[in-house]
Amino acid sequence: MTAAKQRHAIGIDLGGTTIKYALISDCGEFLFEGIADTPATEGAEAVLKALCRVADECVAEAANRGISVEGIGIGTPGIISPDGQSVLGGAENIEGWENVNVGARLTAHTGLFTLLGNDANLMALGETLYGAAAGAEDVVFLTVGTGIGGGVLIGGNLQGGWQGRGMELGHVVLVAGGERCACGAVGCLEHYASTSALVRRYAERKGIAPEQTNGRQIVAHYHEGEPEAIATLEEHWEWLGQGIRSFINIFAPQKVVVGGGISEAGEFYFEGLRRHTAANVMDVCGAHTEIVAALLGNQAGSLGAAGIIFQRKA
Ligand SMILES: [Zn+2]
Repeated sequence: MTAAKQRHAIGIDLGGTTIKYALISDCGEFLFEGIADTPATEGAEAVLKALCRVADECVAEAANRGISVEGIGIGTPGIISPDGQSVLGGAENIEGWENVNVGARLTAHTGLFTLLGNDANLMALGETLYGAAAGAEDVVFLTVGTGIGGGVLIGGNLQGGWQGRGMELGHVVLVAGGERCACGAVGCLEHYASTSALVRRYAERKGIAPEQTNGRQIVAHYHEGEPEAIATLEEHWEWLGQGIRSFINIFAPQKVVVGGGISEAGEFYFEGLRRHTAANVMDVCGAHTEIVAALLGNQAGSLGAAGIIFQRKA
């Protein structure tokens, strides 16, 4: 019997401030990794050059090790064309990152097949292939930070809606006629249940400016028994929990994976979140759903990016 041959891909996670890149095996092992600044204010050409440079580094490292690379997966903010080659738009944190054929450029430069995915979607895939939802096929992933992003897998496959334009999980309606969200609509989950919302609501209770506090401090005050911190976190769990309840009733996922800085607060955070979510979930939908913490931290994006390459011929 011969051992199955290991496969390798380059996984790149393009963010508004940094580019994380790695040479990754199909077991999810990082053979080489690096981080570079994103020239986010210098236009698309500068970002493309930076992507080619980090890909070159990975290709050279693979050559040193005698490894053949199957392709390059890239997670990027924004909406991706249905063929997985171009960023169509919606990536406000990178200047000029609109109608850019990233795939053709990287393939011309490296000779490697290249595929793009939305960053939050690829984090969801990373957690499903290698992290908190490993072994599950039906998964809802949420990343809770300044905003709320996410992804949905059904039968092990990422869902995107028509031309990949959907899955804006942070912008489902939580409060009809509610406050204005950054997206321009009112009452969105993100506006009420992001970490920014937690900080904003706590600051209102304390009569301070939001800049004077942060999520970490609020969690510390919660553990000290401060009434304002307890009230704010209970409210956060209630709001995020109501959003998650809707996702459970729609998708009946095996796992709801929650990532982002706040998810690292500890098990108490998930106990609170489960308590507030479970109350109104329909039994038939949620009986087999577990709400769990993301496991991969800032490696989820690169792992998911490599994962779209491995999924091609798997
Ligand atoms: Zn919104």
